Parts: sequence; structure tokens; C-alpha cells
Amino acid sequence: MLKKIKSKKGKKISHKKCHIKKDDKVKVLTGKDRGKVGKVLKIVQKKDRAIVENVNMIKRHTKQTQQNRQGGIVEKEAPIHWSNLMLICSKCIKPTRIKMTILDDGKKVRTCKKCNEIIDT
Ligand SMILES: [Zn+2]
Repeated sequence: MLKKIKSKKGKKISHKKCHIKKDDKVKVLTGKDRGKVGKVLKIVQKKDRAIVENVNMIKRHTKQTQQNRQGGIVEKEAPIHWSNLMLICSKCIKPTRIKMTILDDGKKVRTCKKCNEIIDT
């Protein structure tokens, strides 16, 4: 018995919590789209990845369907790892790291480390 599975409650989650959310603006740090800025279209929580508009485009071959009679090659965004993305602060318009701040009413918000403004509204 090499693998000993702990109960769900005691299980540590190895995933780092991502502070990027849908509709955030992010800057790409690595890869062929380095320096590009785009809007987050979707978060792929399980894979620690996000889909960013016009970033990490891949060509996909599609089969002919009734809707798409031509078939052929379609360009589509592929998920990109969170660590390759940096959030752009909506207040100071700079790529920034964020910190979590707990407000007086107990609400957790993301704040910009550069300008200290609350990013979440
Ligand atoms: Zn800022």
C-alpha cells in the first residue's frame, strides 16, 4: 500500500488559488504571445488555466457539419497557464500582483499591490 488516500476533509489541495477572474484584463508573460494583452474569456479551474481572448491561438481542424459546410481550419484560443499571465489593474492600468484584503464587513476583495486600489467592484 503505497498510496494512502486521506479523507476529503484532510486532503490538502495543491492547486494555487488563482486570482484571475473572468473578464479580467491580463498580460501574457511568456510564449509566442508574450506582451499581449487580452480579456479573460474563461477560467479552467481544474487545469489552472485560463482562456484569453486572441491569445495562444491554435488551429483546429473541423469536420464538415450542417452549420459549417466548408469544414476546414478554425483558429481558437487554447487555455494558458495562470503563471504565464499577469493581471492588469483596472485602476492604474499596469500589470500587477494582487493581494487579498478583507473588508470590515468580512468581504474578501482583490487589491492592487501597486496602487492599493480595490480591483473588485
Ligand atoms: Zn493598480
